[in-house]
Amino acid sequence: MRSFRIMLALVMLFASLLWLLLGTNAPVYAVISQHAQIIPSAIQASLGATVVWIVATMLFGRIYCATVCPVGTIQDIAIWIRRKVNPKKKFRFEEGNKFRYAVLVAYLGSLIVGILAVGYVIEPWNIMRNAASLVRPDDTAMTWGAIGISLAIGGAAGITAIVAILIWAWLGGRNFCTALCPIGTALGCMHSQALMHIAIDPDKCISCMKCEDICSAKCIKVEQRLVDNSRCIRCFDCTAVCPNDAIRFQLNKDRHRRTPLLEPNA
Ligand code: SF4
Ligand code: SF4
Ligand code: SF4
Repeated sequence: MRSFRIMLALVMLFASLLWLLLGTNAPVYAVISQHAQIIPSAIQASLGATVVWIVATMLFGRIYCATVCPVGTIQDIAIWIRRKVNPKKKFRFEEGNKFRYAVLVAYLGSLIVGILAVGYVIEPWNIMRNAASLVRPDDTAMTWGAIGISLAIGGAAGITAIVAILIWAWLGGRNFCTALCPIGTALGCMHSQALMHIAIDPDKCISCMKCEDICSAKCIKVEQRLVDNSRCIRCFDCTAVCPNDAIRFQLNKDRHRRTPLLEPNA
């Protein structure tokens, strides 16, 4: 599963870059990368991809973040290089911050009242588009012109955002995805309804810490056998590294289990 997701993510990144840099001159298969993105689909009012991703998230969690989003994949590349440069540095669980929900509310509010600039600077696809505008200005000139900002500033905003996201990823994993990105936060909000979860089997776990060490979303706490699935980006690094098959992507069979009440003594 992990190999398949990595392959798919790289293919989608390649296709996205072709589309961003070549526009309508890109090969037909590259066009799919744009149609597969949540935000362009929603904006074009075709809503096709958006609906598909909502359903997919309800079933499997944030697989969009593991495969299709180019900003997710470039972070994974930065994290992979960091692992090669400094293999001793491990990730550790961090509590999810509540600020991401404030960002999501601000983002949705800005869409409702028509303040487009917020989306232009924080949506992952628009970040890539802004940066690409420096080599293909025709695509974004209208976008930025619509809010009275020059293309140069838009392009600079895109490059600055990408550099900042990559530095943040180098320093501490998928931080942008788990702490800031409104799309990821929105998808994460659906996790409690997801049919499948990443979960630790407490009977099989030997507390080797390998899964927590490798989790770039910093959402595994081995000590408590906890996986925060709202932040999990379904990279499957943890399932691949576990020596005892104790952490698995599985049907949510325990979702409705309740601790039984103690029977009063007769
Ligand atoms: S959280 Fe946002 S930036 Fe990260 S992969 Fe998901 S959509 Fe892309
Ligand atoms: S890698 Fe497997 S055995 Fe090791 S701590 Fe994680 S779940 Fe437990
Ligand atoms: S819990 Fe596992 S699948 Fe989820 S982000 Fe962490 S390592 Fe990846």
